[in-house]
Amino acid sequence: MPVTPTRWLAEYAWLPEHAEPTPDVLIEVEDGRITALTPLLGTGGPPAGIEVLRDATRLPGLTLPGLSNVHSHAFHRALRGRTHGGRGDFWTWRDQMYAIADRLDPDTYLALARAVYAEMALAGITCVGEFHYLHHRPDGGAYADPNAMGAALVEAAAHAGVRLTLLDTCYLTSSVDGQALAGPQRRFGDGDATRWAERASAFQPADPHARVGAAVHSVRAVPADQLRTVADWARERQAPLHVHLSEQPAENDECRAVHGRTPTALLAEHGVLGPDTTAVHATHPTSGDLTLLGESRTGVCLCPTTERDLADGIGPARRMADVGIRLSLGSDSHAVIDLFEEARAVELDERLRTRRRGHFAPVDLLTAASTAGHAALGWADAGRIAVGARADLVTVRLDSARTAGVPPVGVFFAAAAADVEQVVVDGRVVVAEGQHLSVDVPAELSAAIEAVTPA
Ligand SMILES: [Zn+2]
Repeated sequence: MPVTPTRWLAEYAWLPEHAEPTPDVLIEVEDGRITALTPLLGTGGPPAGIEVLRDATRLPGLTLPGLSNVHSHAFHRALRGRTHGGRGDFWTWRDQMYAIADRLDPDTYLALARAVYAEMALAGITCVGEFHYLHHRPDGGAYADPNAMGAALVEAAAHAGVRLTLLDTCYLTSSVDGQALAGPQRRFGDGDATRWAERASAFQPADPHARVGAAVHSVRAVPADQLRTVADWARERQAPLHVHLSEQPAENDECRAVHGRTPTALLAEHGVLGPDTTAVHATHPTSGDLTLLGESRTGVCLCPTTERDLADGIGPARRMADVGIRLSLGSDSHAVIDLFEEARAVELDERLRTRRRGHFAPVDLLTAASTAGHAALGWADAGRIAVGARADLVTVRLDSARTAGVPPVGVFFAAAAADVEQVVVDGRVVVAEGQHLSVDVPAELSAAIEAVTPA
């Protein structure tokens, strides 16, 4: 194993709360943490011969904090490019997704997730939130280890070199009015929230790269009287709590019909909202919903490339930010794994909706893609280049066909995942010269997807 350098000299580094990247920053790392930061401002680069710089490794380009992918369903990657033949909508896409889910077991899921998480590492993602509900055998029976599928995901993230928050998802019913799970959904269910909590409590991975949080799949999948069990479980552990919210207008309509209130109001009433909660999508909220989310300090994870792929709609990102909602980003269905694309979509979708420009500053997009996302996943000490923070460093080329001539501040409007040159996670180099150091990502993706794709 090559020794990981502990002193990096970034041509540009984007430091916290700075509107723009800073040139010539010496970044010192020890035991996976950033121990010192020295901007060499105005020197036009490091003067030759300065003792302190001799053993520093240069990082040409722009070095960002680690990017955070707050919402992932790793197995959806197997659907990329396969769902565009007919018209269809979210619900027909979901049937195709279930056909893949039906074919996964702990071994095939380990292989697939390892390749998907390694693709994320290549894209500069140092931490992923896996919204995990493939708990049991296809017929609904438990594996010998009832958390075998979650364990496979933890192992996959270790192989890929990224941190993981396993959001153990409670999924009990198939509709807001409480219909039972059927067919491919049977493996998602634990029976009731108490049994979900027992299984989730039994899973305590000791790996330092992983932690466990909770998720309510949605108001379709967890009956109102069981929401609080999941929320309490998360709160007792100070663990992140995530929930799919108002991705589809149909969910709002059904919730109003059954409960006489919106999904957001239902979650508020049952103690699900709060500062450690992240609502995923929130594409179709009412004004009242936005007030509830803002006042409870609930965050929102936007997944713009998935929302566009599934024709979900455009979430009101600017209105969310205006009421104090922290925004983070996820690649969700992995139609694309590119946090630059997700981030710029937050601004560009607002432009399409309003026919005006300039809703979010570049630093706002960086914050959503890094600091806010890590916090939403329970890693508050990551996602910023600061003394004491985890040493996650993502270096983006400024000399590629896409980024040549682009000022560093413009990188979120120009770069693609393919421009990520080097990725350091917790002080360890995971990606160098644009290549993953331990996973042949294209080959492993091809093999793993072929193994789970229906003929
Ligand atoms: Zn999702």
